[in-house]
Amino acid sequence: MTRTFKRVIEDFVCEKCNFAVSGNGYTNHCPKCLWSKHVDVHPGDRAATCGGLMEPISVASKKDSYVIVHRCVVCGYEKNNETNKSDDVEALIAIVSAKNKNA
Ligand SMILES: [Zn+2]
Ligand SMILES: [Zn+2]
Repeated sequence: MTRTFKRVIEDFVCEKCNFAVSGNGYTNHCPKCLWSKHVDVHPGDRAATCGGLMEPISVASKKDSYVIVHRCVVCGYEKNNETNKSDDVEALIAIVSAKNKNA
């Protein structure tokens, strides 16, 4: 486990779909469209200078939870993010089925 996680509570507006996201300190992606933003080097530190939007490219299962694989559209950086309970299930399913179609 990393100890570099910092809990930062913040609200933000999704730059992809304009949904107003209320942060709970762990929110790193939009629960509606699931897009994220390249702002962290370590989770929560907001130390990355890229700031590019991160596209949810796939969903992977991990024990009893799911992780979304995000890829930055600007620099190509890939990162796994845990799903939140508030994430839109249909959007998650859409990513999974889109991936299966391409496989
Ligand atoms: Zn969004
Ligand atoms: Zn980036």
